[in-house]
Amino acid sequence: MSKVRVRFAPSPTGFFHIGSARTALFNWLYARHTGGTFVLRIEDTDKERNTDEALRVLLDGMKWMGMDWDEGPDVGGPYGPYFQSQRQAIYDEYLKKLQDAGRTYEKDGAIWFKLEGERYTAYDDYLKAEIEKVKAAPVIIDDAVRGRVERAEEKDFVLVRKDGSPVFHFVNVVDDIAMGITHVIRGEDHLSNTSKHVELFKAFGVEPPKFAHIPLILKEEGSGKMSKRDKGALIEEYESRGFLASAVRNYISLLGWNPKDEREKMDIDEIIELFDFPGINKGNSRFDEKKLSALNAEYLRELNIESFTFLARPLLNEAGAVSEDVDEDYLQAVLTLCQPKARSLDTLAELCGYFFLDDYAMDEKTGVKIAKKADPKELLAEVLPILEALEPFDADSLKSALEAQAEAQGKKVFAYFPALRYATSGQAGGPDLLPMLAVMGRERVVTRIKRFIG
Ligand code: GLU
Repeated sequence: MSKVRVRFAPSPTGFFHIGSARTALFNWLYARHTGGTFVLRIEDTDKERNTDEALRVLLDGMKWMGMDWDEGPDVGGPYGPYFQSQRQAIYDEYLKKLQDAGRTYEKDGAIWFKLEGERYTAYDDYLKAEIEKVKAAPVIIDDAVRGRVERAEEKDFVLVRKDGSPVFHFVNVVDDIAMGITHVIRGEDHLSNTSKHVELFKAFGVEPPKFAHIPLILKEEGSGKMSKRDKGALIEEYESRGFLASAVRNYISLLGWNPKDEREKMDIDEIIELFDFPGINKGNSRFDEKKLSALNAEYLRELNIESFTFLARPLLNEAGAVSEDVDEDYLQAVLTLCQPKARSLDTLAELCGYFFLDDYAMDEKTGVKIAKKADPKELLAEVLPILEALEPFDADSLKSALEAQAEAQGKKVFAYFPALRYATSGQAGGPDLLPMLAVMGRERVVTRIKRFIG
């Protein structure tokens, strides 16, 4: 078999939708799996919508997800240009081939593609008029995902509009031929176009590529297809919400594909190795934010603390939890405690903001609950002098000093813990208490306890 050449052929819209990202990813994975070539072709024939900004969103999204292309914008390649808006000469040349073969005609100023078959006049329900139809032999598509699909075109269709602009079906097929594309992996919404495309391939005397139409991504609730307004639909938002690209990529690879075992978290190398058409689901897949978050949390826990801090810092800054000049060592020490608890970076400020902000919120329910057992102010007044004098102020010393105090008072050391945590953080839970106090440091802890006691 000739070397695999696949392409991702987006029309830039200003958004990088999760459905497009999935199509791009499946093409990229297939290219990497087979050692083939991944082409990025920009279908920018709609001049109004195709701005530089729209292109940038797309290319940035691809780069963020780590999908590098072997041919296309920025990198070039032997089959360029890779923007349809720059390929008019190629379309003219291919149109001429069809004209020379007698497969076109002009009607109402447009250039039409002439199907082969017996012609007859029939009433068209949609147009509410008599029109010419064609009994063309059905086109058979041996789709790598859907299996055998049979469909007969019965009307000629336009190739070049009145204003001289070529239509999608024509340029899409011409480019797939001119660029030597061997496999077309795209959304199921294009399955209904495929018989037109196959008719064009046949008219050019070219064997059509292998098609693989991938099912829809449904929104989290309901039966509809995910639209750009649904939460989680836009790749650019994952980046600003602090999701890890590796987690998003892993998650999207599982939207419509699975390695036929229970595995979910997989290295990209593993996915590349296992990815193939038989693993693509026939049924639609459903977006599941919880599953994505769980995967993201797993990836977050694996980061080394330097990378974690690097990613967390701007989000904490944006949320107002840390200032630009936050003490680097303190930030890293806090994040070392919080990383194992973090589910996402955008909720990190809620999780650990109190380490940095002195006006942290006091959770009322927790306050009521701990006051039921014993007066927290009394407990804290008891240990305050010990904390003020403790040297060094670390987890081990805290442990022995508090234990000694508890023993002297005939208490268990844990008796002090809820009050200590609540006074210093306003919360019921968090990282292990003694390391947490040690990281906060004596001054912060003492000041907070004094303020709590009042
Ligand atoms: N520009 C088309 C789209 O964005 C490409 C379809 C195809 O992959 O053939 O849907």
